[in-house]
Amino acid sequence: LLPVLAVVGRPNVGKSTLVNRIIGRREAVTEDTPGVTRDRVAYEANWNGRRFTVLDTGGWDPEGEGLRASITAQAERAVALADAVLFVVDATVGATDHDEAVVKILRAARKPVVLAANKVDGPATEADAAMLWSLGLGEPYPVSALHGRGSGDLLDAAMEAL
Ligand code: GDP
Ligand code: MG
Repeated sequence: LLPVLAVVGRPNVGKSTLVNRIIGRREAVTEDTPGVTRDRVAYEANWNGRRFTVLDTGGWDPEGEGLRASITAQAERAVALADAVLFVVDATVGATDHDEAVVKILRAARKPVVLAANKVDGPATEADAAMLWSLGLGEPYPVSALHGRGSGDLLDAAMEAL
């Protein structure tokens, strides 16, 4: 059984785009409309010869329990299955209440967390990533899931955590 890296975060931060980047193919479901990913989707991945399972999460809850409850329930389920967590935040937006709700779950779970400060597409938004130190989860890794910028350093950190 391969170690499991769960990718969690509120809708539209770029989780599925990052999963595509990690698995090296356009397979994870991404969409401009937030919430299109099914609850959990697992893919086999490999970084520098290390094999692992990457778990994409997301999707609206069909029962309509509300966005916040849906995000937290999904994060809880994914984190329970994970050996390490890749927590994705949109650095260009900054930490929202929904991000903070996920942080609480991550703290309670006591599993290793790597913080991805996504949508840092160029040097102009590097400072946005640094703002995410405030989440108290350690170093925010600036990354552009869309263009690949910073993804090597992020994956190195994720492998340390796994
Ligand atoms: P998810 O809901 O967290 O899985 O987010 P998606 O991966 O579906 O991405 C949501 C939107 O953000 C899509 O329009 C993506 O193209 C866009 N996106 C994802 N990563 C990046 C990035 O690094 N930079 C920019 N500019 N847009 C991104
Ligand atoms: Mg998604």
